[in-house]
Formats: sequence, C-alpha cells, structure tokens
Amino acid sequence: MADSSTIQLSMPEADIAVLTLDAPDKGANVLAQSVLAELDAHLTSLEKRQDLAGLIIRSAKSGIFIAGADLREFAAAKNPTREQTIEVASRGRKLFQRLSKCPFVTVAAIDGVCVGGGAELAIWCDRRIMTTSPKAQYGFPEVKLGMFPGWGGTARTPRVVGLGNAVELVTSGESIDGRTAMQMGLISDLVPSERLDAAAVALVRAEQQSKSYLADRELWSRPLDIDDTELGFLGATASAYIQQQTKGHYPAPLAALEVMLGSAGLDVDAAAQAEAEGFAGLFGTPINRALINVFFLTDRNKKDTGVESPDARPRDIKAVGVFGAGIMGAGISAAVVKREVPVTLTDAAPPALAGGVQKILEEVAFNKQTKGADPQRMLKFAPLINATTTDAEFKGCDLVIEAVVENPKVKAELYQRIEPLLGDGTILASNTSAISIGRLAEKLKRPERFCGIHFFNPVRKMPLVEVIRGPKTSDATIATAVAFAKAIGKSPIVVEDGPGFLVNRLLLPYMNEALELMLDGVEIKAIESAAKGFGMPMGPITLYDVVGLDTAYYAGQVMHEAFPDRIGESPLLAAMVKAGRLGQKAGVGFFAYKDKKGGRGAPDPKLADVLKPLVRGQTKLSEQQIVERLFLPMVLEATRILAEHKVRDPRDVDLGLIYGIGFPPFKGGLLFWADTLGAAKIIETLKPYELLGPRYQPTPMLLEMAKAKQGFYER
Ligand code: NAD
Repeated sequence: MADSSTIQLSMPEADIAVLTLDAPDKGANVLAQSVLAELDAHLTSLEKRQDLAGLIIRSAKSGIFIAGADLREFAAAKNPTREQTIEVASRGRKLFQRLSKCPFVTVAAIDGVCVGGGAELAIWCDRRIMTTSPKAQYGFPEVKLGMFPGWGGTARTPRVVGLGNAVELVTSGESIDGRTAMQMGLISDLVPSERLDAAAVALVRAEQQSKSYLADRELWSRPLDIDDTELGFLGATASAYIQQQTKGHYPAPLAALEVMLGSAGLDVDAAAQAEAEGFAGLFGTPINRALINVFFLTDRNKKDTGVESPDARPRDIKAVGVFGAGIMGAGISAAVVKREVPVTLTDAAPPALAGGVQKILEEVAFNKQTKGADPQRMLKFAPLINATTTDAEFKGCDLVIEAVVENPKVKAELYQRIEPLLGDGTILASNTSAISIGRLAEKLKRPERFCGIHFFNPVRKMPLVEVIRGPKTSDATIATAVAFAKAIGKSPIVVEDGPGFLVNRLLLPYMNEALELMLDGVEIKAIESAAKGFGMPMGPITLYDVVGLDTAYYAGQVMHEAFPDRIGESPLLAAMVKAGRLGQKAGVGFFAYKDKKGGRGAPDPKLADVLKPLVRGQTKLSEQQIVERLFLPMVLEATRILAEHKVRDPRDVDLGLIYGIGFPPFKGGLLFWADTLGAAKIIETLKPYELLGPRYQPTPMLLEMAKAKQGFYER
C-alpha cells in the first residue's frame, strides 16, 4: 500500500533527525489536522531521545515549504463556539511550541513559500535558515483573510524579531524574502538552495557547541523589553497607517496590532492565550468567511483552463501582434513585453503609433524601486517592440489583438485585410468593449479562431480579462486566450457573447440607478457615501466622471437597446453630454476638476443648471435604502446572466466584479453577499421598490431559489 503520510523521518547523521514534509499527490504542503497529528506523533517519539543534537524540518516540494493551514477545513467549520475556537487554536500552538522546548536544537530549513501556519511552525523552531531562491518567502497573510495568526504567531514573532518588525509582518500580511528576513534577524543563515541541507546540519553543529539557542529560549519566553513611550509611539503610528489602508472595512490588522501591543508586557504563554482569545473574535465572522471565499475564488480561477474539454490544448504564444496603439493597444503591448514576449504593433495614424511606442517604453522601463526609468530595463525590453506600418510583419504572430476604434465597420474592414495574411494557427482577438463577437466574426473565414479578449483600463492595474466566446469560437481558441492572459499575469474569465459581456452588463444597472436616484432628488453626497460605505472604491457618480460621460452615454445606449425593459435612456446623461460636461477629461462633469488628468473633483454649483429641470422629486432615503437601490438591480441582472448561461459558475460573477470594478472583497463577491441575505429576504426587500418597474421585480431564478431555500453557491 502506498504511504499516505505527509511527514517522513530520516537520519542523515546518527544524532540529527530530519522531518521532511511532502504531501502525497499534492503540489503544496498544507497543515491539515491529519498533518498536525503526524507532527505530534513524530515529536512525541523524538522528544524522548537524549541522543539527538538537533531536528531539522524541511520540505521536499519544489518552491514550497508550507503554504499554511488547510483553509478548506477552516471553511468547513460550521459555527464553532468561542471556546471551541480557542481550544483548537491553543492545541495547534502548543504542538508547535514543543519545538521550542525539545532536548535538542530545532531548525526550520526554508526553500520556498513559508506562510501562515507554516510561518508559525517555523517561528516556534529555535532557528530558521532560508535560501536565496526568489520563491523562498516568509509571511503571515492571515489578515488578508480577515483573521490573524492563531498558532502563536503574534506571541512568538515579536520576541524573536522585535515588536516593530513583527507588527509590520503580521499587520501588513505581506511576505518577505530571505534577504529581508536576514536583516530582520528572523533567520540565522541565507544560502543557495543546493546548500540548504548542509547549512542546516552545520547550524545544528554550531548550536550544539555554543548552546546559544538555550539562552534565546529563556529570553523569548519572557515579556518584551520595550518601554511605554516606545510602545505608545509604535501603536499610534501603526494604527494610523492601518486605518488609512483599510478605511475601516477590514478589522483584522488593527485587532492584530492591539493583541501584540497588549501582550508586550506578558510572558509568551500569556501572550499566546491572549492571541487565541483575539483570534476567536475574528474566526468565522462574516468578513473572515467572505475573504476566505475570495481566496477560493482566486484559487479556482488559477486552475481554470476556461474550457471543459481536456483535449483543447492551448497554443504556445511566442509572438503577439497588436493593431491600434491608443490607450488600450499600448497598455496591452506593455503587459506582453513585460513578460518578455515580442510584440509587433501598428496604427493607422503614424503619430498615434509613435505615441504608443513612447508609452510602452515608459511603462516597461519603469523601475518600482527607484520610481524612475531604468536603462537596464530599457535595454532588455526595447528590442521586443516592433513598431511597423506593414501588415506583412504580422505573419509570424501566434496571436493578433485588435484594439482599434470602437467602430464595427472599421474593425470588420481590418479583419478582411489581415485575415488572409495570418498563419494557419494564428488566433485573432478583439478588445472591443461592447460590439458582439458574433457580429464581428460574420465575414471571417476562420471564425473558430476568433474571440474577444477584453482588457480593462488601465491595463497595468486591472487584473481582469474577459475572454469572450463567439458562436463559432473553438475550445482551443478559448483555452489559448485563457492561457495567454494568465501568462501575462491577468485573471481571465470566460464569458459567452452578449451585450455588455459580464462586467459591464452588471455595472450598468448600478450606474443607471445612481442617475435615477439623482433624478429622485437624492443628494450626490448621499449616493457616493452609501456606495463607499458599502465598500466600493469610489462612488458611482465619481466613476461616471472618470469613465467619461460620453463613453457612459454610448454604453448606456447599447444596454438600453438590448434591455429596454430595465435600462432606460437617462435624460440626465444626454443633458450632461449636450452641456459638454464630459467628466474629468473635460475638467467638468458631475464634479469640477482643477486637473484634467487626475485628482479629486469638487462640487460644482453650476451642475444645478443641468440637473434641476430634470429632477422629479425630493426623496429622502436612508443609507441602507440607497444601497438596496444600487445593488439589488445588480443581483437581479446576475440571475439573468446565470439563467442564460453566460458564465459557467456563479463564482465567475463574483471574481469578475471584484477584479473588474473593485466590488468589496470583504463582502466575498456579489452573489456570496446575496447568499448571506438569502433569496427570500431579497424578494421581501425588493417589494417596496417593485413599483419603480421591472428592474426591481424578482426574476424566475430568484423565486425558484427562495422556494428551494437555495443559495447561488449551492446551485
Ligand atoms: P484609442 O482611441 O485610444 O485608440 C484607438 C487607436 O486605433 C487610435 O490610435 C487609432 O489611430 C487606431 N486605429 C483606428 N483605425 C485603425 C485601423 N484600421 N488600423 C490600425 N489602427 C487604427 O482607443 P482605445 O481606448 O485604446 O480603445 C481601443 C479599443 O479598446 C476599442 O474597441 C475600445 O472599445 C476598447 N476598450 C477601451 C477601453 C477604455 O477604457 N479605453 C477599455 C476596454 C476596451
């Protein structure tokens, strides 16, 4: 029978024990309860041995030490009591804590990702070594999941690396590499991967001689050596920073800070007890559950090939062509070049081509550290850009992306011209925001090799890519588009063709409702603050100004034509465009701007000239009512999208909105949030709004779900 255990014991030398983690049939080691039980059993037998000089803990997985606790077990824990959570956390911590009490030195030898529960296991060892491999990363990402370390991470870390360092590590959730870990005093040695095992043995031998780990054991079990002034200063600066970062929506980093500051004067056991109690206050809360869901959404997306058929193999993309060197064409080209894939680029207007190349060079040469142009990067990436005015140069491209003006005729004419030049296997894709992929494919000879690859603006910042399947697009084309988007660091979601595809179809009802609220006499300030209070990165009225009111007007027309029963033609948008109030780029939209390129807008009294004649009432709504008016039409539209099978899973809707419009991750996604309300409750909440029209009437899917007491995630 095959060995199903994760931890193997070996003895490379008579007095040195090595525990190697290697979860069978899995890419990563995670600390499931079963693995903790194995560790317990190994420690129980090793602790009895008086002949050992040291224990080394390592991993056999390439690039991974331990990826953390088993989050599936976390998610499956159904409403544990506070006492149960404290008990489970304490049990894990006490197990790891034994590593700091063995009758020999314990060493974590880290050559890969070491995060969460893995970082806690390592911090309880007497010593740690990391490798110089870029994959060797140490961190506590728990706050990103709405909790903090619960197996002693907040208690032990400040005692090993000092409170300031520990606060930064735990409250930021960011990982550090070996070099930073060395500077911090977290590790004793930094070595190349191939020398890790030998260095761990050498460290055991050195500690056997010096016994310095025994002095540290004593020191690290005591209260921290820090005075009240220092503590007060650290607390004030860290909490101000955290509040600015989290905007009050994410409680975990502040809770972690409080527990660490509050435990500074305690011994490590009492600090660990305080940690377990604080942990129980976060574990299982709605925000914790929502953020764990987002983790699963991204994990699922990483594994999703975009197609059901395992036979649809993605084509290797070694060269990309881009037509159109405007905002999007330049952004897409830069994203591709940064991954060291050559790009051939053209534009109908030579100045636009020159401008596009300039923008690409600026972006690829930008060095994040120095915040300026980096000649080394320029030398590396510039040769990968081929700006041309000759169609024939696109012949060798594996993928050609069209990002020319949003005009179906111009796009179709371009395809007619270039399709005959492209290689047999070349995929042609459009970055169109709104034109039907089926319509664009009408005159193509090979519509099976055509799809939409819809990037979001600015490409550099936005992780989402919608891969749009036209009526004739093949699985192999979709698989290739998905693999390509991932290869350039994006998160692709496959969507069936249709007006607004996924994200804009969901965004428009929300945006439209913001205008309706204004016409009902609701103050802009109230609308903006309700949306931001819900967690949106900006209010919908500001978003109109950023997108541009002319663009929004055009998008609204498309949606109105497609769904006239629920998306009306807003007279306000038309009036704004007519008045030349096109948003930020015009210096004036719903707000007035000093700088057309950025910055906050200020309320503009002149807006009343456009708005007043159109306002039909003076409705006063509570923040909750505004939230319902804005977000419930979005939920209803999502049920229609699911009923029409536009996406393969409700989870695609949720990730799409988080990545595409910044839907608040702490709500877990639109449909995850809707599930926390339940279909029956949503139907009840909709009742007073139904007189506003079909856009507030429960859909057949929602009614069915209420009847079956079913959530979106259970469908
Ligand atoms: P843009 O106006 O900045 O750039 C379009 C470029 O295409 C111009 O430089 C123009 O000279 C060039 N062009 C026009 N006809 C051409 C032809 N026949 N051959 C080669 N070049 C030609 O526009 P953009 O914002 O980059 O948009 C491009 C596409 O991306 C559109 O389909 C748009 O809907 C879509 N899109 C835009 C955004 C956005 O926020 N800007 C977001 C997603 C998708």
